Amino acid sequence: LADRLQGTFQKIKGKGKVTEQDVKEMTREVRLALLEADVNFKVVKDFVKRVKERAIGQEVMESLTPGQQVIKVVKEELTELMGGDESKIAVANRPPTVIMMVGLQGAGKTTTTGKLANLLRKKYNRTPLLVAADVYRPAAINQLETLGKQLSMPVFSKGTDANPVDIANEAIAHAKEEHNDYVIIDTAGRLHVDEGLMDELKQIKADVNPDEVFLVVDAMTGQDAVNVAESFNEQLDITGVVLTKLDGDTRGGAALSIKAVTDKPIKFAGMGEKLDQLEQFHPERMASRILGMGDMLTLIEKAQANVDEKRAKELEQKMRSASFTFDDFLEQMGQVRNMGPLDELLDMIPGANKMKGMKNVQLDEKQISHVEAIIQSMTKVERNDPSVMNASRKKRIAKGSGTSVSEVNRLLKQFEEMKKMMKQMTNMQKGKKGKGMKF
Ligand code: GDP
Ligand code: MG
Repeated sequence: LADRLQGTFQKIKGKGKVTEQDVKEMTREVRLALLEADVNFKVVKDFVKRVKERAIGQEVMESLTPGQQVIKVVKEELTELMGGDESKIAVANRPPTVIMMVGLQGAGKTTTTGKLANLLRKKYNRTPLLVAADVYRPAAINQLETLGKQLSMPVFSKGTDANPVDIANEAIAHAKEEHNDYVIIDTAGRLHVDEGLMDELKQIKADVNPDEVFLVVDAMTGQDAVNVAESFNEQLDITGVVLTKLDGDTRGGAALSIKAVTDKPIKFAGMGEKLDQLEQFHPERMASRILGMGDMLTLIEKAQANVDEKRAKELEQKMRSASFTFDDFLEQMGQVRNMGPLDELLDMIPGANKMKGMKNVQLDEKQISHVEAIIQSMTKVERNDPSVMNASRKKRIAKGSGTSVSEVNRLLKQFEEMKKMMKQMTNMQKGKKGKGMKF
């Protein structure tokens, strides 16, 4: 999905002005991309409709190009689609808070039970009790007990002969005695949604009246995950979804449709098999991930606030015409620095991670301070035309800036290389005017 969307955005980014026709064309691409990513058809239809309405009718902000605005709308709508605000775990008025984990076999219920307990203790200082209510496979009970040992947390179990409803009830009584403030019930799953399973889960639910019913779904199963979510929600009125195996999921389809189809929030994301690999689900981050644009929009917002637009345009012009000097370099660096730590900025630019790794382009803060000092030690002539540089000038500059001749040399080389690169980037992004955000 990311690849496909990026291609589309690349096209629209390159435009200074976006017409109604462009919006139509782009939303058609977005539509295809989403469908390809296994997003529910109806969800896609509604989504595209909303984006169109907003994108076409929107006011044109001065600091963003229309293309950027359309991207912004798409991202906001994607975020909205996945649940808007991040959500929290319920807390019962009278402890313990009871969480029931449900889902198909292999979805990650047992693992997530452990992860959730770990998170509750770590982040909220809670003392959870884990409950083994999957009585059909002895291995399931062992698995939870092993997790409990790893976490040094109590596990309530009664072997394979006990009734899951009884287990759940007794576990809650036990938690009250032992002052466990959370009870997490790991239930059985089946390979497919079936009546027997649902009946059992309904009974447990009716009996223990849980504060949360979390449905655990495997993100890798795509559209199936959405169907599973739909039927579990119909039968059990779940309170939230945990999307597991997102570490292996390259498609965002499941995440996108689940909220829309069930109207229940995705609360957590499983990012690996380890017990600390459960994250609060952030719709906005997920939207970025799906769009594959890093935090491009945050960057645009920062740029808006800090870069003098007119001056930035002039600088960009200069870069294009290759008349870019050390003075310009210094100024641009100052503007960029106002926006925040460089490492963070680079993380927000898609593809810029590569730049960080490049041999001759050093971008850490300390180096940048040196660079500034070196440029400040240059004369006007040297700044405008580095070709006059000779050994004695370099020595003088090194001394004046408290650096070394080799550092001066390195900067000169970097400057040439950066100029080259800026030119490439400018060409690549031609038309994305008015930002001057070229490194
Ligand atoms: P259950 O049948 O629903 O209880 O599923 P399990 O908790 O036993 O998990 C099934 C398999 O999925 C196990 O091998 C887990 O290690 C694995 N698993 C669970 N969550 C994740 C996750 O977020 N990422 C990855 N990569 N594997 C996971
Ligand atoms: Mg299990």
